[in-house]
Amino acid sequence: MLIAATRDEGSVNTPDRPIRLALVGVGKIARAQHLPALRANPSYSLQATVSRHAAVDGIPALPDLDSLLASRIPLDAVSLCTPPQGRHVLAGKAIDAGLHVMLEKPPGTSVAAVLDLKGRAQRAGVSLFASWHSRAGAAVEPARKWLAGRRVDHVRATWKEDIRVWHPGQDWILEAGGLGVFDPGINCLSILTHILPGSMHVEHALLTVPSNRAAPIAATLRLIYEGRSAIHAKFDFLYAGEPCWNIEIVTDGGTLLLSHGGQRLAVDGKALHAGENREYDGLYTRFAALIAARDSDVDVLPLQHVADAFLIAQWRAAPSFEF
Ligand code: NAP
Repeated sequence: MLIAATRDEGSVNTPDRPIRLALVGVGKIARAQHLPALRANPSYSLQATVSRHAAVDGIPALPDLDSLLASRIPLDAVSLCTPPQGRHVLAGKAIDAGLHVMLEKPPGTSVAAVLDLKGRAQRAGVSLFASWHSRAGAAVEPARKWLAGRRVDHVRATWKEDIRVWHPGQDWILEAGGLGVFDPGINCLSILTHILPGSMHVEHALLTVPSNRAAPIAATLRLIYEGRSAIHAKFDFLYAGEPCWNIEIVTDGGTLLLSHGGQRLAVDGKALHAGENREYDGLYTRFAALIAARDSDVDVLPLQHVADAFLIAQWRAAPSFEF
């Protein structure tokens, strides 16, 4: 591959050289989070962006990944911020070109496709990071530690936001493979699967799909935790008020509330932790550590639960939806 010729210093990043990275997909999350996190992190040098329409001042802009790989721009890694549809092809090409790859969530449109990438990255000797940004929320780790050793009796998770406010015009979300309301809902599942130490599985799912769309706009789930406790989850994309991204966990030691998408923690009404949102700083620090260790981090469990919900679901039709 042409890209191999650019790896002029043999192995990728060394402690005295930043990771040379290209950002693929310059949309909402790339501008709001990835670019600021990359600019603030001296472990990275942003070498190029890839987008059919967008560019970033002062950074070489390529229209597609093939053009990037065929260019002489030296690279160690790519970060994929495109929609999940098509991400498997992009990640596969980058891995085949010997690049480390960071994936936005969800890591793909099927569990097997993500596992395929994991195997290919391993065989190619590159790092694959399937990132879950909500797991890097300021209060998530404190919540996980607080829950350790406590008996979980009941969980109520609510992820409600207005798609028109948070994802204006993003038709891909409601197309096949876009996950619909599970695009934000999978953030909730990524936190639950991280902070609860036991196993869970989806037992019931009711998915509501607008008549003119392919993916759900609302979902109600019941999961069973450790074979006995219930996790009730409600995801709503048509919620017009202030967004609500809350997880309440009733335990034998009190009731934990993880709110603001994982940024705040309270127990029995008493605030224990409130931090500012620095999720993407944490993700890029983790990616650099994985590259340095020649390791990968690919947890498909949140996506598995979404897939299981689609498998087991009762389907309900809703009126057509337009942005
Ligand atoms: P977006 O604003 O729609 O941006 C998507 C980008 O991907 C655009 O730059 C688009 O650029 C490119 N793209 C390539 N193929 C595309 C296609 N077939 N359809 C649409 N765009 C395509 O999306 P986003 O909100 O940044 O989300 C991207 C990923 O980040 C998703 O997986 C999402 O779940 C995740 N994420 C989003 C948020 C959020 O709040 N928005 C938060 C965390 C994670 P060109 O058209 O110029 O090529």
